[in-house]
Amino acid sequence: MNLLNFVSEFPDESSCRNKFKEYRERVGVVCPVCGHKEHYWKEDKACYECKHCGKRQSLRANTVMHGSHLPFRYWFIAIHLLTSTKKSFSAVELQRQLGHKRYEPIWCMLHKLRSIMGKRDELYILSGVMELDEGFFSTEIEEEEKGTPLKRGRGSQKKSKVLVMAESHPIEGQTNKKGKIPQVGHLKMVVIHDLKSDTITSMVEKNRSKETIIDSDLSTSYIHLNDIVKEHRGQVILKKETGKFLPWVHIAISNAKRLLLDIHHDIKGEYLQNYLSEFCYKFNRRHFGESLFHRLMIASVTYKNQFRQNYG
Ligand SMILES: [Zn+2]
Repeated sequence: MNLLNFVSEFPDESSCRNKFKEYRERVGVVCPVCGHKEHYWKEDKACYECKHCGKRQSLRANTVMHGSHLPFRYWFIAIHLLTSTKKSFSAVELQRQLGHKRYEPIWCMLHKLRSIMGKRDELYILSGVMELDEGFFSTEIEEEEKGTPLKRGRGSQKKSKVLVMAESHPIEGQTNKKGKIPQVGHLKMVVIHDLKSDTITSMVEKNRSKETIIDSDLSTSYIHLNDIVKEHRGQVILKKETGKFLPWVHIAISNAKRLLLDIHHDIKGEYLQNYLSEFCYKFNRRHFGESLFHRLMIASVTYKNQFRQNYG
């Protein structure tokens, strides 16, 4: 959807509200008390009433807009921008474009959308051959961490650890100097607090199938991976050769870092996951084209916001 189509389809608050209601009913309204799926719509109260137990919920309740007071149109504009721009959109820029007085609610709205993108991608299981590596992203020190002595020269920056997993299958018949060219499937990036074997093994276990084959270096963090996948092909990989042996994790890490530098500056470690979730969500749907808006709308009515519910 280009900007002109967007403006003509959603010219005002009521067109956005009606569309949101349509999406909600298409996915199905579920009663938070009894789980019943049939509801009356009370137009005068603008809420659903459960046909079984009578519990009422607003149009926004139990969706990404749960607890939000921002206009529906703001949300639609944000969803449009997040799904139609190739890279991303900063909260400062969106606040300026909307002419909204306060920064925080806009920042919060974008994070809520990013967090449901992550929720949606949790459904993917990586199969076939999976490249595995860790990336280290510069983030700002969180308030509660300040006071801990940092290594000299690092200022208030620290390196957040990210486990990167990418499905990577060689394409039949296509080769170059490096051998067969692998085609990338789904990508996942997960912020982890340490590089212990237990941490990494359990994270991989959540995201792999038993038939997965893992390519990685010979880090001691990976010693138990053989127990949970079909095969773990660990090998010695020099830092400068990561791009050759683990091409897709290498590309993903450098593209994600560039995006964070270009658009979102000085991000705090606690929000890094959301930015990476947005990056992976768009990467995993890079061939979806215009249907991405529709997909994110579906996710928006499916998941209840968990990110600072009473804010924004
Ligand atoms: Zn009910």
